[in-house]
Amino acid sequence: MSDTLNAFSIDLEDWFQVFEENDVSAWDSFESRIENNSLKLIDIMDKHKVKATIFALGYIAEKYPGLIKLFYERGHEIGSHGYSHTQIFRLTPEKFDTELKRTNDAIGSIIGKQPIGFRAPIFSIVDKSFWAFDVLLDNGFKYDSSVYPVLNYRYGMVRSARFKHIITAESGRQIVEIPVTTGRLFGVNLPVAGGAYFRFWPYRVIKWGFNQVNKSGYPGVFYMHPWEVDPDQPDIEMPRRIHLTHYHRLESTLGNLERLFTDFKFSSMADVFGMEY
Ligand SMILES: [Zn+2]
Repeated sequence: MSDTLNAFSIDLEDWFQVFEENDVSAWDSFESRIENNSLKLIDIMDKHKVKATIFALGYIAEKYPGLIKLFYERGHEIGSHGYSHTQIFRLTPEKFDTELKRTNDAIGSIIGKQPIGFRAPIFSIVDKSFWAFDVLLDNGFKYDSSVYPVLNYRYGMVRSARFKHIITAESGRQIVEIPVTTGRLFGVNLPVAGGAYFRFWPYRVIKWGFNQVNKSGYPGVFYMHPWEVDPDQPDIEMPRRIHLTHYHRLESTLGNLERLFTDFKFSSMADVFGMEY
């Protein structure tokens, strides 16, 4: 087992909240599976003594306060994933501000504490939504984990730094950026941080990436979603490219998590990166 402490994070959202075509007004019509799926994750984290950062959607916090409380009581950090899972570049700064406040209020009223960390839906802080850092600072956030330094058709700032660094917002104020993990091969950043890549790559690719990062002296940052441990979730129509990544090898996730937790040590973002929470 590597001695380096890595960060484990969960973007807390239900299986049908992922698709940008499927807007918040329709969410009540889908079968909710988030409680059961979260319990599976809580169990496996407890078993391996893993603490995580839970980037919760405000919608989930309002609807399932008991779930947020449970994660918090088990020692996990509660962060924010916004309210409606709308990509930041589709929002205005005013709408983003409203989403952050509503989510902070929901989380604050459950655990008596505001989140200090934020992860944007679908890593959607990119060049055209750079203004988001100032809105995060206005709302008391100390760190952001929304920049993925890779090339992907939906996200990515490929020239961005791969490890924890300071970002100067448009106002001149500063915020800590903690990107999810990439491996480096032939001069290219490879996404190995989890999510769909955890199911697409063989597990050894993820292990290679985290080992490479740890050997260079850096903690890795892993992310996943509760719906990724749920092979029985309903299969609904969605654009083909999204369908492909969403449903691919969902049955492999829990087994690979066992391996990941055996090979590497994990704690919350705040804990690993020394952010006061
Ligand atoms: Zn998400």
